[in-house]
Amino acid sequence: MPRTWWSEGVDLPATTPLSGEVRTEVAIIGAGYTGLSAALHLARDHGIESVVLDAGPIGWGASARNGGFVTLPAAKLSAEQMIARYGDQEARRFYLSQMEGIETTRALLAEERIDADPQGDCVYEVAHHESAVPHLVTTADIYRHRFGLDATFLQGWAFGAIGHGGTEQFGALRLRGGFGLNPLKFLLGLEAAARRRGVRVHGASPVHDWVKDRGRHVLETPEGRVSARHVIVATNGYTPDELRPDFANRTLPALSNIVVTRPLTAAELEAERFRTDCPVANSRSLLFYYRVLPDRRFLFGGRGGTAGGPADDAAMRAWLETRLGEVFPSWRGIETTHFWNGLVCLTARGTPAVGRLPADRTVHYAFGWHGNGVNTAPWAGMVLAMSIADRARVESLPAPYRGLPMSLVSPGLRRLILKGAYLWYGLTERT
Ligand SMILES: Cc1cc2nc3c(=O)[nH]c(=O)nc-3n(C[C@H](O)[C@H](O)[C@H](O)COP(=O)(O)OP(=O)(O)OC[C@H]3O[C@@H](n4cnc5c(N)ncnc54)[C@H](O)[C@@H]3O)c2cc1C
Repeated sequence: MPRTWWSEGVDLPATTPLSGEVRTEVAIIGAGYTGLSAALHLARDHGIESVVLDAGPIGWGASARNGGFVTLPAAKLSAEQMIARYGDQEARRFYLSQMEGIETTRALLAEERIDADPQGDCVYEVAHHESAVPHLVTTADIYRHRFGLDATFLQGWAFGAIGHGGTEQFGALRLRGGFGLNPLKFLLGLEAAARRRGVRVHGASPVHDWVKDRGRHVLETPEGRVSARHVIVATNGYTPDELRPDFANRTLPALSNIVVTRPLTAAELEAERFRTDCPVANSRSLLFYYRVLPDRRFLFGGRGGTAGGPADDAAMRAWLETRLGEVFPSWRGIETTHFWNGLVCLTARGTPAVGRLPADRTVHYAFGWHGNGVNTAPWAGMVLAMSIADRARVESLPAPYRGLPMSLVSPGLRRLILKGAYLWYGLTERT
């Protein structure tokens, strides 16, 4: 497990690898928000049994190490691009489902009594440069008038009074409804809720072989085997290409990185007029995201890096610390106590995928959250549970989710594409 701020002082559940033969209705690969939400909803709402398998210990994937922004959209496409590609109606349905995702996460916290330190009543997207303002004004307008969301663009002075100052603040889009939470507490709460409903969750149980035998799926792990009528693939940015040919090369994993500072004093926060506890992202293509945590530590995150590993991590930490000091100059050189990173999942078409395979409708999948999975992944798990219980048709989901995204090139080339994209954004973005 990476040492994150979230995992300090937390007792993670014991990892019990699957051993021996198990028969169940649904086998779920991946114990993040998607997989655990699917298991919980299957058991709680539909009385359907499932077994969840994860390659790592519980809390290994992105769900345990993200920034805790409950926001939207789970797509790389802008609202305008979404409308251009899918039309007004499907774009609107997509955004409403994303809002439903935010509400699903909120409802799970309440229904399952998960105390995950919710913070704030909105999320902001800040214009990092004056050239970004027109796009955010247009987006706020589309959100409000075409999608029916509670969104407004605040001029720099108006956001400055309630949000923050700094060198990269030229106004902000405010979306009501979004909020921040402690991602690990949310994950562990989901896991405990699923277990209470009789779900078996096995860490250290990587699925390394998958065959179909007389109408049932047989998944092999190092010490065990699960036979199930349905399988849910919930592996997102951690999907191994060899898991199953249908999913090979369809995901583009990208590193997202976080530094957390020591607790700041009230005076230090005020020096940057940092007055909001709502999560904030900026408008850069390679966005920065930041928020003040309940104990006044500052979390600052950004995408970048393609290799991982100690040298890459040290360079990324140094870069984030430098950028933190550039965006908020009075915090230059402030001590950071934690750094970690993990994989988010992009797709070639820039939208997520939720559905089942046409060739085998007992294989269900949900991935491609584009770094916004805290709302979308639990919602998608709920949708897949309803689909398996015959209470919903994934084929009727908003168009951006439908079907598998196109297959990408080989893993090596995928990394090169990502490096090229980072270079391009770095060269073309206004500072
Ligand atoms: C640093 C960082 C910051 C982020 N910040 C935010 C944020 O603020 N807001 C937001 O909405 N999103 C954020 N995200 C993205 C968000 O965390 C993810 O979209 C979400 O957690 C994905 O959930 P999931 O359940 O689909 O996948 P994951 O939580 O990644 O779980 C997938 C699991 O599949 C398992 N697996 C893979 N292969 C196998 C196999 N063969 N057998 C068994 N198990 C397997 C993995 O071990 C892993 O645990 C961030 C991500 C990162 C890395």
